[in-house]
Formats: sequence, structure tokens, C-alpha cells
Amino acid sequence: MKEIILLKDGELALKGLNRSTFEDILIKNIREKLVGLGEFRFVKSQSTVTVEPVSDDADLDEAFSRIQKVFGVVGVSRACVCEKEIGEITRCACEYLKDELMFAKTFKVKAKRSDKSFPYNSPAICDEVGGAVLSAFRGIKVDVHEPEVTVNVEVRDRYAYIHGTQLPGAGGMPTGTGGRACVLISGGIDSPVAAYMMAKRGVKLTAVHFASPPYTSALAEQKVHRLLEKVAAYAGRVNLFTVHFTELQEAIRDDCPEEMFTVTMRRLMMQVASRIAEWQGCDALITGESLGQVASQTIHALKCTDECASLPVFRPCIGMDKNEIVIVSRKIDAFDISIEPYEDCCTVFTPRHPRTRPTPEYAREVEAMIRDKDRLIDEAVKSAKLKIIEAY
Ligand code: ATP
Ligand code: MG
Repeated sequence: MKEIILLKDGELALKGLNRSTFEDILIKNIREKLVGLGEFRFVKSQSTVTVEPVSDDADLDEAFSRIQKVFGVVGVSRACVCEKEIGEITRCACEYLKDELMFAKTFKVKAKRSDKSFPYNSPAICDEVGGAVLSAFRGIKVDVHEPEVTVNVEVRDRYAYIHGTQLPGAGGMPTGTGGRACVLISGGIDSPVAAYMMAKRGVKLTAVHFASPPYTSALAEQKVHRLLEKVAAYAGRVNLFTVHFTELQEAIRDDCPEEMFTVTMRRLMMQVASRIAEWQGCDALITGESLGQVASQTIHALKCTDECASLPVFRPCIGMDKNEIVIVSRKIDAFDISIEPYEDCCTVFTPRHPRTRPTPEYAREVEAMIRDKDRLIDEAVKSAKLKIIEAY
């Protein structure tokens, strides 16, 4: 029996005339995800994309699991393809879904006929297929409200497709339809979640990580790579720039009042990241900040850091509690990596009593105390080393 993958693109339906472009981007993203898994053909029609294997070596199992992580897909199912003839449809339905139907107590049939020339309308298809299931599987009953198994029959242009329960897709918008933004990624819990959340809205990601060797280790950097791989499984390829931040941090330690270390460090991070982001063609920055979580994330501290960014700063975690962030972190399989205990540059020179109500005027004054600041910022920008992160 020939099998394909059927996917539904939900929110895309809202996009009117842009819809076709959005679907093209979605298909391009899926194509990229399926590289190396054999040859597939893509057909789009009526909020549905069919992914059909055309070469013998096509790996449908792996394709199915990768497609579940593609943004812009709301539902995905494996379906069997059959000729548009009612006897063939009933036979395929009983055969293809026999493992599910055999152990189920209840079922219903849902039929959709987009080819109006097909001689059976939807209720008639339900009657035929329902009748066949009732006589093939002993003891099973129809329950139209809460069936254990739904037998879906879709009669489309060329073929009829039969599938069981549809699994949820990754949701959101296809990556690349929402512009490009640069995430400031640490090894913590929040910034990978922030990156995932913005990618889910269609944003293509670039990433910047600040490393301060020898205070931070190579293992800490590898941890960031592994975290970004978890994000890239959804977001597609990510260009990661690792910035050598040691001299700037030492300058802060030597020249600034201790209570302002963290806020000043964040201000410098924003400046360096803004430059890299603009050079990479990004139109926004992303951070994992959450209001009130730590001293550097009070409304006053954020006001001080925000003014140093030359682009809008997206903070998708801003209104989330830690446990809400952790739920997303676990969902994308990042949590266990995030809690590995490696030093981040933020924890290197932590003030004992950080100021929680800094003013921008004072923050500017403190920043101006850094000798040679402009040169150090230039050097940090120039130190950025690119690594391409790709994962499935
Ligand atoms: P996270 O879990 O993302 O590390 P956090 O709650 O620990 O967040 P902070 O360490 O105060 O918060 O950092 C706030 C934000 O600053 C992070 O979410 C991230 O966007 C950015 N950031 C912190 N450290 C780094 C770093 N080493 N490189 C790049 N960005 C960083
Ligand atoms: Mg952190």
C-alpha cells in the first residue's frame, strides 16, 4: 500500500493573497529538512500539503518525525493512497487502519470530498466506509462524539487518501516569513526558549554568544552549541557568532563600581550584539530576560540595557514564570543540557549587592568610566567567530 505524509498548514490560511508565498516557503523549509532521506514530491492544495516519496530509498519514518518539527504545520498524519473508487476506498480503510480498529471499541468516519465529480458525497462516503468497518471488526461501535479512532477519508484531485488520528504539528509560522533576528544565547534555560519562541513566529535566527576564557571553559561553549542544535531542529540552520568577551569584562571589573557590573556588562553585550546583528542583516535582537527574575532584569535595569540596543529587543519570556519557561525548555529537549553546571560569563564577576534601581543616567556615567571602551568594543566585534549550527 502506498503511503504519503499529509500536513495541514493552519495559520497560513489567514494570509489571503500571501498564502501561496507562505506555502512555498513552508515547502522549501520541509525540503531542506528532508535532505538525505531520498526523493519526495510536494503538492499543495486547500490548506494541505502532501509529501509523496518518489524514490525507493525514501525514508518515510524519519521524514515524518522531522516534519513534526517544522513551523507552519498544525497537523500531520501518514496516509495511504488509493484509487478513487468506493470499493477500493472501503477496502483500503479497513486494511490500512486495522491495527488501530482491531483494539478499539468505538470509531467514526470523517469524509471530505474536494473532487465534487466523485459520485458519493461526504455523508454517503461515511455510510459506506462505516458499514465496511462495522462488518469487518467485531464488537466495534460508532461514536460520533468521542471516538477512539477516527477514520479520515479525503477524496482529492488525483487520489483518495485515508488516515487515522492526526498528530499535532509544531504550529507557528514557517521560518523565514517573519524576518531575521539575532538571539543573545547563553548556556541557561531562558535564552534557548526565547530563541525557539521567536523562531516559531517565523523568525530566521542568527545567534551571538559571549565567552570569557579562561574564566569560562570550552565545555561551556560546546554546551551552547548543543543547546542551539535543539533549537535548530525546529528553526533550521543558525549562524552562531562566538565573541571573545574577556577584555571587556576585565575592564568592567577594573574600572566600574561593583554594584553596576551586571548592568554594565549587559549594556556592552547589547552594543556588540547590535553591531553583529546589523552586519548580518537582522532587524531585531532577542533575549531570554523575564521581568524581575534577577537584579539585572528589573524594569529599571531593562531600561538601562534597552537604550544600548540599536534594534528592537524581543523578550518573549518577559511575562513568563520560571516553571512556564521550563515547560517549553523540556518540550524542545533543551532542559537537561541547560542545567549542566558550566560557568557562564554572567556568573564570572557577580556583584554581591547589585543595584536593582539603576537609572540610565547613572548607567551611562558608569559605562564612561571604562578606559579604552570603544577600542575594546571594536575588538570584541572583530573577534566574533562563526559556527554554523544545523540539526534535525
Ligand atoms: P538564560 O537562562 O538565558 O541564561 P538568565 O535568566 O540566566 O537567562 P541572565 O544570565 O541574567 O539571565 O541573562 C539574561 C539574558 O542575557 C539571557 O537570556 C541572554 O539572552 C543574555 N545572555 C546572558 N549571558 C549571555 C552570554 N554569555 N552570551 C550571550 N547572551 C547572554
Ligand atoms: Mg544566564
